[in-house]
Amino acid sequence: MAVKQKILLVEDDDALAEVLGEQLALHDEFELARVDTATAALAELTQPGHGFDLILLDVGLPDQDGRETCKIIRKNKITTPIIMLTGAASEADTIFGLDAGANDYVTKPFKFGILLARMRAQLRHHEQAETAELQIGDYVFRPSLKILEPSNGASKIRLTEKETNILKFLHRAAGAAVARDTLLHEVWGYNAQVSTHTLETHIYRLRRKIEADPSEAKLLLTLEGGYALSQA
Ligand code: CA
Repeated sequence: MAVKQKILLVEDDDALAEVLGEQLALHDEFELARVDTATAALAELTQPGHGFDLILLDVGLPDQDGRETCKIIRKNKITTPIIMLTGAASEADTIFGLDAGANDYVTKPFKFGILLARMRAQLRHHEQAETAELQIGDYVFRPSLKILEPSNGASKIRLTEKETNILKFLHRAAGAAVARDTLLHEVWGYNAQVSTHTLETHIYRLRRKIEADPSEAKLLLTLEGGYALSQA
């Protein structure tokens, strides 16, 4: 049997939680856990390797606005898809506006079929992102695992979080030069107190990992406008 998708339902409405539990139980693919406060949800999710595949998060929780909970979840670098359950259309308006980091929402009362379709869409989308394989030179780059696999079968190269993000962003630029400031902001954030020297240090270390001759870079190029990945 296929591995079940673990769903965390964060909802203080017992009647709704019960109905959702019954409906989801009809579908073999899901396994539901439920908590009724934001505090309990965060306690579950901040366990290392919490193992949830999707979070259904009520906006009107007794101890916190669910949108705030959503923000905290994202601040903890938890990328699990989140579907917000909102009590009113007016709440829905602000979910994305507040940049809380939710992936989708449904407005109560909703038809179960609608929620199910949204859940499946998010699970599918997340799985694709997790298993993404990008080609960089002679390497297969797996961003979610932070590794580069050489095509000649040599042992894989482990990357740090920053190195992974640098490569992800350069790959997205498809060979165009990315200015140092842009790369710095994308990888470290706009408020980070880091200088281009920090970026250069990371590029130096990255080249030592990925270039045959780090002093003659063939893959991670320094161009006039910044850095680029060779498309050759
Ligand atoms: Ca509620």
